[in-house]
Order: sequence, then C-alpha cells, then structure tokens
Amino acid sequence: MKCDSCGSGPVIIHRKHSGQVLCKDCFIQRMQKKVLKDIRKYKLVRKGDKILLGLSGGKDSVMTMDILSNLQERGIVELVAVTIDEGIAGYRAEGVEIATEIAREMNIQHKVVSFNEYLGVTLDEMMKNPHSGACTYCGVFRRWILNRVAREVGATKIATGHNLDDEVQSILMNYLEGNLDNLTRIGVKSQSNDPRFTVKIKPLREVPEKEVALYVLARELPVHLAECPYSGDSFRAEVGHFLKEISLKHPTIMYSTLRGFDRIKPVLKKEYSRKSPHTMCEVCGEPAATPLCKACSFLKMM
Ligand code: SF4
Ligand SMILES: [Zn+2]
Ligand SMILES: [Zn+2]
Repeated sequence: MKCDSCGSGPVIIHRKHSGQVLCKDCFIQRMQKKVLKDIRKYKLVRKGDKILLGLSGGKDSVMTMDILSNLQERGIVELVAVTIDEGIAGYRAEGVEIATEIAREMNIQHKVVSFNEYLGVTLDEMMKNPHSGACTYCGVFRRWILNRVAREVGATKIATGHNLDDEVQSILMNYLEGNLDNLTRIGVKSQSNDPRFTVKIKPLREVPEKEVALYVLARELPVHLAECPYSGDSFRAEVGHFLKEISLKHPTIMYSTLRGFDRIKPVLKKEYSRKSPHTMCEVCGEPAATPLCKACSFLKMM
C-alpha cells in the first residue's frame, strides 16, 4: 500500500474516518498542520500570549507541547509547562521524570508543583477516607492549581492536552447525567467573563486518541505510558470504553457527536447556562459561585 499523499511507503496509518492512508512523514506533517490550523481557526492564541501547558508527561500533553513549541520557536507565544504531582504512589514519579526530561530536550520552561505543596495533602491521603471518586478530587484540585499557577507566572492562556475522545466522553457523560449546565461549558476555548479565570484552550480537541498515540510514536517522543491506578474506577472510563467499542463499527461517530454538540451548544447555552454570580471563595480567594469554591468545600469535608 502506498501513501495517499506522497505515493511512497511504508504506510503507518489507515485513517478509517477519512479513508486516507499515510506514511510516517506525511502523517506527522498532516497532524502538525491540522492542529496549527485549528489553533488559527478557533483563535486559540494571540501573538504575545504566555501559555501555561499542563504537562503530565502522557502522550496528549507531550504532543501538545511538541506542536506549541513550534509557535514558541517562531516567536508567536511564550510557553511554560507545569507538571502537577498529585501524590499517587507508584505512578506519578515516573511521569514527573519524563515530563522534566522532555521539557528540557525541547527547551521549554518547566515547573513541578504538588498537591502536597498547594493543598497540604496528597491524592493518596485523600483517598483514605473518600467522599468522592479519585478522579473527581483530582480534576477539581488540578484545575484549582492550574489557575493559581497561571496567575503566579502571568500566563494569558492555559493549554491542556484534551483529545477528541476526552471531549466526546465529557459530552456524553454530562448528557447521560442530565448535567446541562456543565454541557454548556464544554468547548475548544473557555469563555468565562471573569478575568480572574485564565482562558483555557484545547488544541488537540479534534485529534482522536489513537492518532495522538501514533504521533508521539512516530516522532519518537518519550512519554509516560503507565496507567493511573485510579483510572479504571471512573464513570469516564466506562463511557470511554463504550465509545471505543461503538467506534469500531462506526468510525466517524466521535466526530459527528462533536460536530452535533458544537451546533446545539449555543441553544443549550441560551436555555440552560446558569449565570454564576461573580464572587470570591471566602477561604482561598479564588473565583466561585458559592461562598466556598469546590476545592475548599472538598478540603473542608476531609
Ligand atoms: S485517572 Fe483520575 S486520579 Fe488518575 S490522574 Fe487521571 S484524573 Fe487523576
Ligand atoms: Zn507520504
Ligand atoms: Zn476556595
């Protein structure tokens, strides 16, 4: 089989959703072009932005850094990567090591921060007496820390490595749970009108997880492959499993779900978006809709 783009071989991918077959170099080029095009199309960055990237060391954040580093090299943005050590024994240390190594290789400023340093407690300690699933805690506290660090370093944007599968999982999960207000917040770019929230962007939102994995492999980028010990427990994992299964027979289903959602979102927003009053968490001073932000109310329960 020959590459559809350059006519040579060997091919490394048959993209079922588009029918294309591509060799390694053409696949890498296609991916980089596609993500840079999405960044322009959705106006994710502006010249002079300082972007804080959540770098776990996993494939998604490593691919995001690889592509954003191109914008830094061209003098369009400044990139700072941050790795959050949640305190998960036997798992996170290796991720921190890989993230540190790859940030050094790519010449990107890098910070490591931890739950322990910012919250005084690790995720493992939280899970000794849990009131919620690990991923719920982890997500809330990671967002809280990312926002803090963004302000500390003067970032104008926060980039995360969410891929197509992650995004469609979020859409389906919130739909299945009837959480319409949360649905209205899903998108390629956050749209809070509270200036204390740094705008969040997802450059890989239209790249399937499989293609992210193939990209880091083709580029020979070091990534943290281990799976988090808490990952299997979550509702997200169940929904992800279902989507993978159904995609085998229906390879375009994730794209059609995403496109359909993006079309219906303005209507949802009009009808179901709760207007959060702009107030401040009385404990930590972060923006919140209630007297205590989610992170502080979780901490209070511990
Ligand atoms: S799987 Fe859950 S607990 Fe583990 S890093 Fe991801 S969000 Fe955190
Ligand atoms: Zn080719
Ligand atoms: Zn708070």
